[in-house]
Amino acid sequence: MIPEKSYDVIVVGAGPAGSTAAAYAAQRGMSVLLVDKKQDIGVPLQCGGFLPHTETLKELIPSADLPFTLEEYPSSCIHTTTSFQRFIAPNGISKGFDVKGDVLDRRRFDKYLASVAAKEGTHLLVATNVIEIKETNVIMDGAFGRYEVKGEVIIGADGPNSMVAASKGMQRSPDPLGMSTAFEYELCGVDVDKEAVEMYFGKDYVPGGYAWIISQGKDRANIGVGIREAFFSEKMCARDYLNRFMYEHPIASEKLKEGTILSVISGLVPVGGAPSITATKNTLIAGDAAGHLIATNGGGISTAMVGGKIAGETAADFLEGTCKLEEYDFRWRAQMGLEIKTSVYIRKLMDKIMLSDSIMNAAIKTISSSQMKAVQCGKLPEAVKKTLQKLNMGIN
Ligand SMILES: Cc1cc2nc3c(=O)[nH]c(=O)nc-3n(C[C@H](O)[C@H](O)[C@H](O)COP(=O)(O)OP(=O)(O)OC[C@H]3O[C@@H](n4cnc5c(N)ncnc54)[C@H](O)[C@@H]3O)c2cc1C
Repeated sequence: MIPEKSYDVIVVGAGPAGSTAAAYAAQRGMSVLLVDKKQDIGVPLQCGGFLPHTETLKELIPSADLPFTLEEYPSSCIHTTTSFQRFIAPNGISKGFDVKGDVLDRRRFDKYLASVAAKEGTHLLVATNVIEIKETNVIMDGAFGRYEVKGEVIIGADGPNSMVAASKGMQRSPDPLGMSTAFEYELCGVDVDKEAVEMYFGKDYVPGGYAWIISQGKDRANIGVGIREAFFSEKMCARDYLNRFMYEHPIASEKLKEGTILSVISGLVPVGGAPSITATKNTLIAGDAAGHLIATNGGGISTAMVGGKIAGETAADFLEGTCKLEEYDFRWRAQMGLEIKTSVYIRKLMDKIMLSDSIMNAAIKTISSSQMKAVQCGKLPEAVKKTLQKLNMGIN
């Protein structure tokens, strides 16, 4: 594929945010170039793949206008469907709530989203790394050659380490607790609960974070840990914590230790919220690049796609002369800003609580199942706020 010399919109990154942004801008008749450094869209996998069904997403982010690709996607993108979320306290006591969701095959899902963008008329350039942006000239290099392409609008959907955000001065605050390392295995030969997504807590296994087991159906599962470096014990890294969880956790290891590791997955998860600015006069950032993620559970697929849709639509409105590009910042915050901000606030309250097993046991015991669901959705009922603040005071 040889790109044109210029486009209305250039989108950097063909993950959920970028492909959604490209689809919505192209649908409005804009010429769009979507560039990704991956040779194979969706690969390597960097996700657990859990996506709540739309009825839950409508509770999670009630003001958001969901993209059509979140409402409907091919069944070939779904490994399995689960109906329950379970929290396992350090003392082994568990509690949970009903929540229906699909466990996606992100390799297929990301390809599906890119193909929707292409169907709307987007030009897709894979295996091409964006290496520099000079004003609105994007310099890229890869399998199809080196090009300098002009865009009227640039959308940075290039993930948690966004070079677009950095090059336009839109980075998040440098809070070391605002970025989590996620380390994951895709396993076969395991006997896990096929109906539930499980989250395990305990400072010896995941200090200041949690471990997950997400069934892929049959005898397969994704297991992982999300953990901040500041909480690592000396000489331990994320992989060591995951191995300890898989082979030594008193409950989880019984289900996992005989499993075979099919793939090793790692990535960063931005749990520090959005930067103060997400739009300039010619550039927008969306998805992980803009901190569009629920910090209490590390879920970012749906919020990335909502952010991408708003970015694509705002770019089109701007190019049609009906709004300023900076309007984007206001638009996405109106649709999901409160939930993202609240989830970061809750995460900060939980940071200390999760470092003490006895206090984490008390938190899981005290908070009801329905309150847990609310907290997972980035909401903070007054009673939970008081409980968490009280538990926090006990630590200080
Ligand atoms: C291990 C792990 C497990 C997770 N599990 C879940 C889960 O179960 N459910 C959930 O909702 N969320 C989960 N998340 C979070 C979720 O994966 C992200 O929030 C989501 O992928 C964000 O989408 P995005 O489009 O913003 O970014 P990404 O999916 O990261 O896509 C960014 C794209 O930009 C491309 N790119 C980057 N830089 C350049 C460049 N310079 N030039 C060209 N291309 C570039 C990359 O190749 C990539 O394809 C998980 C994350 C990790 C790391």
